[in-house]
Amino acid sequence: MKKLVYLDYQATTPVDPYVFAAMQPYWMENFGNPHSEGHPFGWEAREAVELARSRVADFIGADDDEIVFVSGATESCNLALRGVAMSERQERRQIITLTTEHVAVLETVQWLGNHGFDVVALPVKSDGLLDLRELESTLNENTLLVSVMLVNNEIGVIQPLREISAICREVGAIFHTDATQAAGRIKIDVDELGVDLLSLSGHKVYGPNGIGALYVRNRPGMRIAPLLTGGSQERGIRPGTVASPLVVGLGKACAIAHHQLEHDVKRLEAMGCRLLAELKRDFPNLRTFGNMEQRVPGSLSIGVPGVLGERLVEVASGKVAISTGAACATGSPEPSHVLLALGLEPEVAVTGVRISLGRFTTDDEVDTASEVLRWALKSMMMGS
Ligand SMILES: *Cc1c(COP(=O)(O)O)cnc(C)c1O
Repeated sequence: MKKLVYLDYQATTPVDPYVFAAMQPYWMENFGNPHSEGHPFGWEAREAVELARSRVADFIGADDDEIVFVSGATESCNLALRGVAMSERQERRQIITLTTEHVAVLETVQWLGNHGFDVVALPVKSDGLLDLRELESTLNENTLLVSVMLVNNEIGVIQPLREISAICREVGAIFHTDATQAAGRIKIDVDELGVDLLSLSGHKVYGPNGIGALYVRNRPGMRIAPLLTGGSQERGIRPGTVASPLVVGLGKACAIAHHQLEHDVKRLEAMGCRLLAELKRDFPNLRTFGNMEQRVPGSLSIGVPGVLGERLVEVASGKVAISTGAACATGSPEPSHVLLALGLEPEVAVTGVRISLGRFTTDDEVDTASEVLRWALKSMMMGS
């Protein structure tokens, strides 16, 4: 029997074998507390953590002291948004985001809205991209923060961050981006993008689960209130002992993603295009969701009229693992908030499935996926 094909890389990625190898000594041999200053156990762990920090910094074009290690992108987004909003001497009250953000941002912004901030979730165009005029007409001298994701986790579209950051700069608003899905799929450079805060997650870039980073630009007026109390680690922004094995893994994962970005992108592009073409050949009425140019390679958001996405996922699940939307939202029978935000009718939105390829996807697996999905779609259409 063939192995189950994994095409849900947007939900999580397997750990790269080189990442696994790099982490190994830090569990049982070099297990020291990186904050122990009196002996070599501490020094070794500290050195590994600092090497990882510079690898993460290099990966996004930042300085080492602008990287704060946290438990994942959810915490990173919370720390960025709450940390800025709750810091002292904050006079501005408006916070702007998009309706298509990950819940880590959306629900945090909503929480701030319930705690005295004036929050706005801007709509997107039918291709999933922000209409810059919407931002221009909403933002003003009272805007504290703007949070717009670099790459969407369901439809894979790339938001125009350079243009957005230029608009934010005009009024002095702080700009945060959730770049979790961009890592390893497009180049990330904090200066080119013009962002002040950026969130990353280990398990979306072939690193371990339970680790992430927040980039905090060294700039006047940038103050982050910690979410936790209890220590001065990570410049007091994120108290608690740094998880050295996980941090080492994140550093290695970023170094690999940096080094082989072009290689990964080329493969993903080719395999993704082929899979889409094969599905479209048999199902000419197949719809794609989200802008088809401004998107990351190897990520498809598609639907066939009359075929419930949930059912397709289920029928395929013995052979191919795909999903209907964000893993964090599964279990809810509602159509994806992202597809609805594109202005799709609910009966169209419920046809949506997300197929995402990754570094370890092979041509053979694409063949299998193509066969299985076409078989599943055909059988479902006969049954309907
Ligand atoms: C997965 C994901 C998150 C959450 O990351 P965790 O590290 O699992 O907390 C946030 N934003 C986006 C866009 C994601 O894809």
